[in-house]
Amino acid sequence: MRADAGIILYMQATLTILGSGTSMGVPTLGCECRVCTSTDPRDRRSRPSVAIHWDDHCVLIDTGPDFRAQALREKIRHIDAVFYTHSHADHILGLDDLRPLSFHHPNGHIPLYADNASAQIIERVFDYTFSEETKYPTRARVKMHRLEGHESVEVHGMRFQRVPLIHGNIEVAGFRFGNVAYLTDMNRIPDTSLPLLQGLDIVIIDALRKTPHPSHANVEEALEWIKRIQPRRALFTHISHELLQAEMDEELPPHIRLAYDGLRIPFEIEA
Ligand SMILES: [Zn+2]
Ligand SMILES: [Zn+2]
Repeated sequence: MRADAGIILYMQATLTILGSGTSMGVPTLGCECRVCTSTDPRDRRSRPSVAIHWDDHCVLIDTGPDFRAQALREKIRHIDAVFYTHSHADHILGLDDLRPLSFHHPNGHIPLYADNASAQIIERVFDYTFSEETKYPTRARVKMHRLEGHESVEVHGMRFQRVPLIHGNIEVAGFRFGNVAYLTDMNRIPDTSLPLLQGLDIVIIDALRKTPHPSHANVEEALEWIKRIQPRRALFTHISHELLQAEMDEELPPHIRLAYDGLRIPFEIEA
């Protein structure tokens, strides 16, 4: 909505890093490396997810196995919608903990958005939530919607643009909202997705570790993608126990940092 005098109205929003860790989390079970035993709270990384808050609204991207603890930590009491990047365990296993929040949702259910391939797996893993025959009485009241390709959805004035990404040998979803993009679990951005990533203030991008990985960008690759996308700032996520926060603060250019759990990033979107 634009005011008559041509003044652009902005809406204040906040992106919260619920989790910045890789699928195994940091500390990693059974490991006593310098990062897993670090006393810097920023080196404790729960499974990857973000929350976007504006007005009284809250949207999540993914609900990993640490979702319940993340929601308690960030005092999340209401969820308007959840977008899923893909169906790997570290991104979906917290879905069942949407239950108490879903019982009080004004629509009677929380809308979920995923591409068909991910939705099919989520519906199978949480069969008792979605199956018509076995509707468990205290199941999560959620409704799955398919979101494919370059489709986008508006939630209470905030548009969420799906951005196709490549994660090893599967397509996953990144999301853009305002001038912020969340690109977890990727090692390649298709050429056709690059126009969706122009003019970004902030990109949150997969940077697993320094050594190469078949389905995640490492630090070097993430830096190359950042150079191509040219955001004003970038934050790394999906971080393993190979990267120490304090050391990376020294190594990275000033506009690029590792994300950490609980980090809040204010941003504005055109209202
Ligand atoms: Zn992952
Ligand atoms: Zn370790």
